[in-house]
This record gives sequence, C-alpha cells and structure tokens, in this order.
Amino acid sequence: AKQSGRNCCQIFEESMATEANNLVQLESELRTAIQSQQFVLRVQPIIDGQSGKLAAAEALIRWNHPERGMVSPLEFIGFLESSGMIREVDQLVFVEVCQYIHALRSTGEMPEEFRFSVNLSASTLHRSDFVQRVESTLAQYNLPGTCIEFEITEGAALQRLDEVIQKLKVLQLQGLTFALDDFGTGYSSLSYLKRLPINKIKIDKSFIKDLIFDPQDEALVASVIAIADTLNLRVVAEGVESEDQAAWLNCYSDIWYQGYLFDRPLHPEAFREKYLQPQQT
Ligand code: C2E
Ligand code: CA
Ligand code: CA
Ligand code: CA
Repeated sequence: AKQSGRNCCQIFEESMATEANNLVQLESELRTAIQSQQFVLRVQPIIDGQSGKLAAAEALIRWNHPERGMVSPLEFIGFLESSGMIREVDQLVFVEVCQYIHALRSTGEMPEEFRFSVNLSASTLHRSDFVQRVESTLAQYNLPGTCIEFEITEGAALQRLDEVIQKLKVLQLQGLTFALDDFGTGYSSLSYLKRLPINKIKIDKSFIKDLIFDPQDEALVASVIAIADTLNLRVVAEGVESEDQAAWLNCYSDIWYQGYLFDRPLHPEAFREKYLQPQQT
C-alpha cells in the first residue's frame, strides 16, 4: 500500500510539474506570438434577417502556432486575460482591423454605414488610457468612429459601471457604438441595461443552440427580444446553425444573425471577395 501510495504521489507530482511547465511554456509562447505576429484575424459576417444581406461583421482572433497550426481563442484568451497580456493582444487586433478597413476604404469596398465589431476584454476596457488609445489608433488610420463597434461583456461593464458608462459616452460622441456580448450568461439586470449606452445585444449562442426543442430557451429568447425592443436595442442572435432556428427567430422581424448557417469566420481576403466589391466608378 505504501509503495503504491508513493507511486501515486510521484505521478501526481509529475503531472503538477507538467502543468506548471505547460503554463510557463504557454506564457513564453504567447509572448513570442505577440512579438512575431502569430495572431491572425478571421471575419464572420452578420446577416440582416429581413433582407438576408450582409449587415455587419465580427473580427475574431486565431493563433497561427508554428507547430500546432490554427489555435482557437478558447484555448488562450483566458490565459491572456489572467496574465494581463490580453491588453496588448486586444490592441493588436484593433490595429489589424483598422488596417483592414483602411484598405477597404481606399478601394471603395467599405460599404456605407457598415461596422466591424471588435471584442474587448475587461482589462482592456478598464485601462485608464483606453479612450485615448482608441482615438489615436483611429486617427493614425484616418478612420471615423462610425466604422467600429466594440463588443463588451456584462461582467466587464458591471465591474466599474460608472467609469465604463463615461468612457462609452465619450467614444459614442465620435460615432463608435457598443454591443453587449454573450447576453444572458452574466448578471443581466434591467437597471444597468437601461443605463449603459449600448446599441445592441448579442444573445449568447447557448440560448440559440436548443431553441427549437427547449420551451424554456424559447421563452428566454422571446423575453430578451421584448426587452431589447422596449429599450430600442438591436438584437444579434449568435450561433445560428439551422434553418429552423433562423425561421423561429425570423418571427421577430428585426433580428440579425451570426452563425455557421450563413458562414464560419472567414479569412479577411475571403470575406472581402465573397461579401464586398469595389465600387463602380
Ligand atoms: P464571442 O465573442 O462570443 O464570439 C462568437 C464565437 O462564436 C466565435 O468563436 C465564433 O467563431 C463562434 N460562432 C459563430 N457562429 C457559430 C455557430 O453557428 N455555432 C457555433 N457553435 N459557434 C459559432 P471563436 O472565434 O472561437 O471565439 C471565441 C471567443 O473568444 C469569442 O466569443 C470572444 O469571447 C473571444 N475572442 C475572440 N477574438 C477576440 C479578441 O480579439 N479579443 C478578445 N478579448 N476576445 C476575443
Ligand atoms: Ca463577440
Ligand atoms: Ca458569445
Ligand atoms: Ca465572449
């Protein structure tokens, strides 16, 4: 028994060491990734349910790892957040999106009244120079704020509500808009929803997944849509994968969809070719 106990511990210690090594290795690999630009963008279209046409698009990060290939953000965003590195990465993504929009504008491919959505983590939103950095990056690429929407989560907004409201209001004056991401998974309270200067809520894909089969999800989604209606907010349904889901949602006329039913996140060049065309001159 003693023997096996020792073996047991040894194995346990070994696996802990591996864990720790993995974290140290992940951290150093992510630092390299930031320095040598291993992060790439994908762009997922958001479709207007009524017209079936392109309405907006979201920029999503991927890590193009030298050995592992494309790595999903689900595998590294959490670590970037806990290590503080997310602030650098969110800024890289924002710069990348600004460069992309700048190129689209120069060829006349940027549609009128079109916005690219960019995700912000809490620590990016909370940094004291957030507003200033956004303004100077936009200025650097000669872009109006009307090209960009930022997606923030309820958690990030609630952590420092008054401060966040102030920041959003300043950027709103310059044409930027804000969406509440992953809606329904956080601490949804109607009083703060009313106070936040947002234009849009994105219903989390976990509520869309079983929409057709689960009466509770149906009721929840219907009430989120009713609340959004009352507050004059646009609704985006995330994770729309089937015609049935789209048809159910389409009962509510004014919804936008994002999901594999329409497209996966695309290479920016593929998005450009499929959804945008140079303006005829
Ligand atoms: P999110 O902001 O909720 O983004 C939507 C996620 O849903 C994306 O996952 C997208 O690929 C996925 N998705 C879209 N349509 C469907 C569908 O029909 N079915 C399913 N099952 N999934 C769908 P992705 O690209 O893996 O990103 C995961 C999360 O990583 C994002 O969730 C966001 O929270 C975070 N993230 C991605 N890029 C950035 C970034 O630049 N900065 C920050 N801070 N977070 C990011
Ligand atoms: Ca998002
Ligand atoms: Ca989500
Ligand atoms: Ca999210």
